[in-house]
Amino acid sequence: MKYIIGLDIGGTKIAAAIADESGKTLTTINTPTQAKKGGDEVSAQIVSIIGELLKSTRVNQKDLKNIVLGVPGQIAKSKGLIIIAPNIKGWENYPLQAKIQKHYPNVPIIIENDANCAAMGELYFGSEKEFKNIVFLTISTGVGGGIVVDKKLYSGANTMAGEIGHMPLNLTNDNDYKCGCGRFGCFEAYASGVNMAKRATKRITELGAAKDEYGKITLELAESNKSKISSIVLSQAAKQNDKFAIDIIKENAYYIGIGCVNIINVLDPEAIIIGGGVSNIGDLLFDEIRKTVKEHTSMVSEVKTEIIPATLGSDAGLLGTIAIGLSE
Ligand SMILES: [Zn+2]
Repeated sequence: MKYIIGLDIGGTKIAAAIADESGKTLTTINTPTQAKKGGDEVSAQIVSIIGELLKSTRVNQKDLKNIVLGVPGQIAKSKGLIIIAPNIKGWENYPLQAKIQKHYPNVPIIIENDANCAAMGELYFGSEKEFKNIVFLTISTGVGGGIVVDKKLYSGANTMAGEIGHMPLNLTNDNDYKCGCGRFGCFEAYASGVNMAKRATKRITELGAAKDEYGKITLELAESNKSKISSIVLSQAAKQNDKFAIDIIKENAYYIGIGCVNIINVLDPEAIIIGGGVSNIGDLLFDEIRKTVKEHTSMVSEVKTEIIPATLGSDAGLLGTIAIGLSE
């Protein structure tokens, strides 16, 4: 029997697991990331967590199939390099694979971007259906993505595939749609939770005193502080039938839907699975996304791509590292 070790390394915590070849988890470890102490300290943490997992399960390192590290940033996979991980100090052009390999010279070490891991997690462990080709979107602070083709991650020529958040939706130079990447009009600049909240704040300010009931519940839930309007506040307000919140969410769903139309036209996946905080809004959001997709896909007579919510929540990343270990 061979075993897989997976670590989901976040800016605040590391979740780790060891699983057997059937995908069954033997044990897990959760611990805060020493992100502020610097990249080498986090590397040392990773080494010690791997050691603990082996020790507690009495698995010998020669019985490891591989070790998969999910990281919160941009990577150069073939070089085993982290190009940048903004939440971990010192992980810039950082040779993570080599650092860990030194301690486990005979075990394949794989590094992968966290959204890609989540995509594989949802495919292998999340969805009830047996999909082979999916696109995963995580919509929260930003918009991340992962593309799975024939049950394997599609990485592209430069391991940059899946950066769906930076697909332009609009050729604009409007500062309201300036993206974190520095460009304008990216999918993320329209559809992320942060941008939905920004749009709501701006619109409610424009409405001023003339709004009457429109947006009243949203403002109440934000404690009359417009800057406290978030995707969570909007979601709660919409559940209380606040028309303003419903309009903002439907508008966001429209943008997500247009993003999905582009994905479907390029990849025609069996499903687009959507996770992240914004996906928790639920049916109001998903119904509108599906409606938009139906109205705007012109190249196929009947869209078969299912648009479905993710099911694993914050476990998707960790389970994804195991899925990648199994699929390699
Ligand atoms: Zn961008």
